[in-house]
Amino acid sequence: YFEGVQQAPPDSILGITEGFLADKSPNKLNLGVGAYRTEEGKPLVLSAVLKAQRIVVDDRSRNKARARDEYQPIGGNAQFCALSAALAYGPDFDGLRDGRVAVVQTLSGTGALAVGGAFLARHYAASKQVFVPNPTWGNHHGVFGSVGLTVKTYRYYHAATRALDYEGMLSDLRAAEPGAVVLLHACAHNPTGVDPTPDQWRGILAVVQERGLMPFFDSAYQGFASGDLDADAGALRMFASARRRDGSPQEMLLAQSFAKNMGLYGERVGALSVVTQSPEVRKRVDSQLKVAIRVMYSNPPIHGAAIAAMVMANPALSAEWQAELAGMAGRIKDMRRALVDALAAAGAPGNWDHITSQGAQAWLAA
Ligand code: PMP
Repeated sequence: YFEGVQQAPPDSILGITEGFLADKSPNKLNLGVGAYRTEEGKPLVLSAVLKAQRIVVDDRSRNKARARDEYQPIGGNAQFCALSAALAYGPDFDGLRDGRVAVVQTLSGTGALAVGGAFLARHYAASKQVFVPNPTWGNHHGVFGSVGLTVKTYRYYHAATRALDYEGMLSDLRAAEPGAVVLLHACAHNPTGVDPTPDQWRGILAVVQERGLMPFFDSAYQGFASGDLDADAGALRMFASARRRDGSPQEMLLAQSFAKNMGLYGERVGALSVVTQSPEVRKRVDSQLKVAIRVMYSNPPIHGAAIAAMVMANPALSAEWQAELAGMAGRIKDMRRALVDALAAAGAPGNWDHITSQGAQAWLAA
């Protein structure tokens, strides 16, 4: 019966990894997958994360008798969810204080996009269209398409100027059907590294509100763009705290990943949150997110979320983590500078300034 199965094309990113592994060159570098590397080309295990892991493992072995390794609730680790939301929206966000935000633990950022997409496909009546930037992380097309949403694109990158096509973006969003979902990279846009300035974000928010679009932020790199967790959440916080013309709170979704900023790639640690207008609506949304999760994988794994929660909850570990994060972001900036200098020294034709100007610092100044 399987004779008729067609060969799928290889994944464009993982295909590069296969080629990389097969290559015998001692100087090879894998620029396909977006994972942080040290000077030695090795993955970086964050010291704060390692310490948190030790505490979690000790705690879990001590508490084995209390069945700590049984299933989590469908929505995952409640402390992790609360801390993740506070990290993204800021601890003073009135939506959190008022209990208007539904939060569930997910299988990293991809899982958050998938659960959010499934929820929208089933329960969001205004539109079944989702607009993603052109270009975008390739899996946005696959994930949203697979849950039955129609994926469309808006202009984002202007190749000639190697900068944001701001006017093109606004005009495509203005032409979107009312209520359409719009996927926005919270910071460190993948693959271009080009982020809107705070002023441009204000313009994007105005169009989102004018057309009644539903923002869905993808935050896979909080802390990586500027080295500062709050600065990198600037855009999504602007949206989350906005009010509509009638004074009602702005609704939105947010997919968070801890893969890059905690180096927990393979632990699959993430969160999906939905900002609603009231605790009553939040409760119903929450119930439907759980239905979506229950049929996909029933409940999320324990270990990675416990580590992330420990890092965020413990003030010493959190401070250490943020210092390490600033170190990684600073080194990325230094690498970009060194690349531009090396290109100039080698006499490469053309202008490479975009490599150093990309990577938003704007929220730090704002
Ligand atoms: N969104 C974007 C923009 C990404 O670049 C990535 C990872 N490359 C993800 C989401 C999801 O990653 P993960 O599922 O590992 O958290």
